[in-house]
Amino acid sequence: MTMTASRPPERSTRADRLAQPTTRDAVRAVAENHGACLRPIQLRRTNTDTGEIDQVLIPCRSTLADVCPPCAERAKQLRAAQCREGWHLDTEPIADLRPPDEVQAMWVEHRAQAQADRDHVAQAGQDTAELDGLIGELDQELKRSGLRGKADPSRPRPRRQRSTRRRQDAPDLPKRKISPHTIGKTYTAPDGKTFRPSMFITLTCPSYGRVTDDGTPVDPGSYDYQRAVRDALHFAALFDRFIQNLRRVLGHDVQYFATIEPQKRLAPHVHIAIRGTVSRAELRQIIAATYHQVWWPAINEVRFDGDHLPVWDEARSRYLDPATGELLTEWDDALDAIGPHDDPMHVARFGAKFDAQGVLAGSKDTGRCIGYLTKYLTKQLGDCHHAETDTQREHVDRLADALRYEPCSPTCANWLRYGIEPKNPRPGLVPGACKGKAHRRDHLGYAGRRVLVSRRWSGKTLADHRADRKAWLTDIARPSGNRPRQLPVGTGPARRRGLHATS
Ligand SMILES: [Zn+2]
Ligand SMILES: [Zn+2]
Repeated sequence: MTMTASRPPERSTRADRLAQPTTRDAVRAVAENHGACLRPIQLRRTNTDTGEIDQVLIPCRSTLADVCPPCAERAKQLRAAQCREGWHLDTEPIADLRPPDEVQAMWVEHRAQAQADRDHVAQAGQDTAELDGLIGELDQELKRSGLRGKADPSRPRPRRQRSTRRRQDAPDLPKRKISPHTIGKTYTAPDGKTFRPSMFITLTCPSYGRVTDDGTPVDPGSYDYQRAVRDALHFAALFDRFIQNLRRVLGHDVQYFATIEPQKRLAPHVHIAIRGTVSRAELRQIIAATYHQVWWPAINEVRFDGDHLPVWDEARSRYLDPATGELLTEWDDALDAIGPHDDPMHVARFGAKFDAQGVLAGSKDTGRCIGYLTKYLTKQLGDCHHAETDTQREHVDRLADALRYEPCSPTCANWLRYGIEPKNPRPGLVPGACKGKAHRRDHLGYAGRRVLVSRRWSGKTLADHRADRKAWLTDIARPSGNRPRQLPVGTGPARRRGLHATS
């Protein structure tokens, strides 16, 4: 880049000078054109042999276009590559499935992953109930597969046993023994040509009331905002159930690449690329049989509101009712109080409407579907559909209102409103002001990951895929107009990438 061509004349007025683009703007424009990061992070790199230290700039790796367009675009391309690579694999991505028992190995692997996820969540101080539930189920599968002993003897037995009986209103599914293979069937055409189709499936939430073309309710008064936000809050858990059921019905370790994004009515839906196929009839059956029950305390009665709020008792580290001095019900006690005849607080399900199509390897459908799958990945959920009319803005407002006092997790401040002390209570909790992501306008009730990829999708981590597309990583233009953000040396992503000790 050369700036001489646009250098101001020798004598210039202030107006002339102001009319010149700033260096920063110019660098930004050039960087953007060349796909370089706009907010690189500076890291110190130590050569472990010589002790020499130098500075490197690494891209910010933001996935959001309004933070860093080039990085967001690259992240999206990377996901597209990941999706493409796994979709039509015709050999097992991880070939080391060895005897004695491949099924057991598969369950152990799932179990290990769930434990790692749980530890991660616990470390971040978030709620682990969801993963504890999953771990419980995986332990059962391990047992069913013939493994003896507990997978993690140190893990305390869950306090409560919820009924595992299926809901009466959900059809039964065949429970096949699941084989560990991850590849779909191959079909042979009459002319002898073989092909191995995969599928693109879209699952939606149920109806909360009729909506018009702009996604807003025909009758806002009867639109079920409460159900809408609860379904959004538990959408990721519902998706997990669906995958489990899909695996059971198909009898193999079905792999998926899924992305979650909002529909125009602002309810989440999920696009799923699965390897292999499932018939529409089976899919309909699985969707009807899939549900997620939320065993949280009922919140039918508002007990604290306005100025009348529970207060924190420093000495006891508990919340109490300022009027009576009585301690609030503790989280675990509130859970224990849910009896065998009580209903779950919420039952999340998918809508009966779904979309499913077969996609052949290398067809133009593949590219089109990957376009759908990655379309909104560079945006926050709330930014995918811009509210342009008053009606649309009011719809967003009502949704945000419904989310305001809805508990987002066991640690949510909103439990106080209903006279229940949240799990792991701490001072400063105010109902209606929970910091949980799910309450935020740009999250629309869904706080989970936007891309969900199964372990054996491509047999590669995102880092492996990134290494495949490494060209852009190594040499980053240094946009001098941007002050790099200083990070502690060797922490976070840089450490994982080994940048702290390379040369
Ligand atoms: Zn960037
Ligand atoms: Zn919350």
